[in-house]
Amino acid sequence: MCNSKYKRVMLKLSGEALSGENGYGIDFDFTKKIAQQIKKLVDMDIRVGAVVGGGNIWRGRNGEDMDRTTADYMGMLATCINALALQDSLENLGVNTRVQTAIEMREVAEPFIRRRAMRHLEKGRVVIFAAGTGNPYFSTDTAASLRAAEIEADVILLAKKVDGVYDKDPHKCTDAKKFKKLSYIEVLEKGLQVMDSTATSLCMDNNIPILVFGLDDPENITRAAIGEDIGTLVCKE
Ligand code: UDP
Repeated sequence: MCNSKYKRVMLKLSGEALSGENGYGIDFDFTKKIAQQIKKLVDMDIRVGAVVGGGNIWRGRNGEDMDRTTADYMGMLATCINALALQDSLENLGVNTRVQTAIEMREVAEPFIRRRAMRHLEKGRVVIFAAGTGNPYFSTDTAASLRAAEIEADVILLAKKVDGVYDKDPHKCTDAKKFKKLSYIEVLEKGLQVMDSTATSLCMDNNIPILVFGLDDPENITRAAIGEDIGTLVCKE
């Protein structure tokens, strides 16, 4: 037990996060490091929901001249592959988990049922929400915002390649300034690279804070959850 700032968190991992340095596929060594951090949260009695992206396998049309909705369904299926990989890494560490999918595939995982998800969380199981929102034209960031609202998460822990939100691309501009705190409106008005606007608006309407931090050091997951001063916090004001 510990006096962590947040009691129930929604961890959003992009698909890229699971690919480690490769940018494609799944790096199981890195996935294990993420799983170890999630285990720490569970051991501290923090309830954890997780949404994983799919960009390490498939994103949007992936540069192909194909039907958008078909491409999006491929992306949603990619998130299921990642969810199973994360589930496997967690269960190898003895963490109880459930994967719930927004598109039914009962032989593989439970369908998303909110009440069931809540019960799993109460029992200390990590619930991994897969297949995004189940709808094309959305993103897994929006899925994370939606599920965060549904499971009444205190915060969305948004793990990124960059260690917070900057006014310019820090990889390109040496004078890029990192924000400590931002309001949802500032993010939307300045078009800052946090989440897409649908996801940000959903958080704003439901008053869910978003803590953006870097996954270069997986221990940041624990630091973020216990309320250490890292990354950028996006909230009401
Ligand atoms: N996707 C979708 N609906 C959703 C979530 C995801 O259509 O609710 C598709 C979309 O094509 C997206 C892909 O799945 O590009 C992978 O998700 P995302 O790009 O959010 O993954 P990440 O960038 O977090 O790895």
